[in-house]
Amino acid sequence: MKRLFAPTETHPAETRAAIAPVTVKKLIDLGIEVLVQTGAGKKSDYSDQDYSDAGATIVADAKSGYDQADIVTRVRKPEPVELAQVKAGTLHISFLDPFNEKELINNLAKREIASISLEMIPRSTLAQKMDALSSQANLAGYAAVTMSADRMTKILPMMMTPSGTISPARYFIIGVGVAGLQAIATAKRLGARVEAFDTRPVVEEQVKSLGAKFVKVDLGEMGQTDQGYAKELTPEQLEKQRLEMAKACARADVVITTAKLFGRKAPLILNQEVLDQMQPGSILIDLAVESGGNIEGSKVGDEVVTEKGVRIIGPENLEGYYPKDATLMLASNFYNLIEHFWDTEAKDFKYDIEDEILSGCLITKGGTIVHEKFKS
Ligand code: NAD
Repeated sequence: MKRLFAPTETHPAETRAAIAPVTVKKLIDLGIEVLVQTGAGKKSDYSDQDYSDAGATIVADAKSGYDQADIVTRVRKPEPVELAQVKAGTLHISFLDPFNEKELINNLAKREIASISLEMIPRSTLAQKMDALSSQANLAGYAAVTMSADRMTKILPMMMTPSGTISPARYFIIGVGVAGLQAIATAKRLGARVEAFDTRPVVEEQVKSLGAKFVKVDLGEMGQTDQGYAKELTPEQLEKQRLEMAKACARADVVITTAKLFGRKAPLILNQEVLDQMQPGSILIDLAVESGGNIEGSKVGDEVVTEKGVRIIGPENLEGYYPKDATLMLASNFYNLIEHFWDTEAKDFKYDIEDEILSGCLITKGGTIVHEKFKS
């Protein structure tokens, strides 16, 4: 019988786990024995008892889990000391940040560990059920709005009362991928007036369908990659974008930026000049802060207040802001991936490398780097 192990995450900012009690049951139904490190679900409100009630065996330390495991599921990329404990032949599934982790990828290959990078799962309809980037970005978009609502000095909806009328808060969302769309939907639900912008023209319709206004900027040639990701703008296009964004920022109470470029540093969109034109007390939340930042001066895990009183928040691990649900979604993504490739007769993971999903996300296998993008 194959054994799956979910260790306790070691990064101090990580609140999520790679397994939930409900997926323990489902994995066992597939014929997999499940091991969970003690405390793995502590930060996401799943106790050892919850996991063992679902059928998992609780192991006291990571080493004994790795020693027994054929499959490892975890959220963050492994630190070198953790990787050293993973056996050759193990299938290791996690976020890996492969574009920036050359040494890690080389080590995974050298140590003959088969590795799947969650970031590389194709953005196709069939793969949606295992798309961890989407499930987590969706929650981050929601959390950005609730966080801003909590820190603002005004409320979101319009209120007409005998004591006076309160105007709705104005939100401006830059970058309308999965997180941006959820941020728009959440802010609208809470009664805010929302504007949004993205460099991919196809997004305009989606913004309008959520009842928000699309800010039009003529940047000339734009578009998206065949995976639907944004293309990088030229410095001239970015400058033009900045000028137009400044106007929308100046009228906003909250600006949420989510603009990312897959595998590359995020574009710097709002500089000091733009910030200087904003109203004191307005809030900016930079969801791209961990990949370089969309806002000048934003700091990971910190709030920076400009001289003019504009507050820039750079949340760390916003995906895990609501860890119970984030863990639930992520654990489902892991389960769906394993189930999709599970050979029920052989009771083993089937490395079908002709498959579009697997060839998209399998990075190393059998001692070599197998993914086309990372071979060279
Ligand atoms: P992302 O996190 O890579 O980027 C967020 C958004 O920022 C994107 O919409 C991007 O266009 C935008 N952006 C980049 N540079 C910008 C700039 N200078 N100014 C303004 N906006 C900028 O995106 P994501 O949420 O991971 O989504 C990527 C794509 O994948 C989208 O097309 C999305 O619809 C698609 N997708 C498809 C599926 C599916 O079909 N299964 C699932 C999820 C996402």
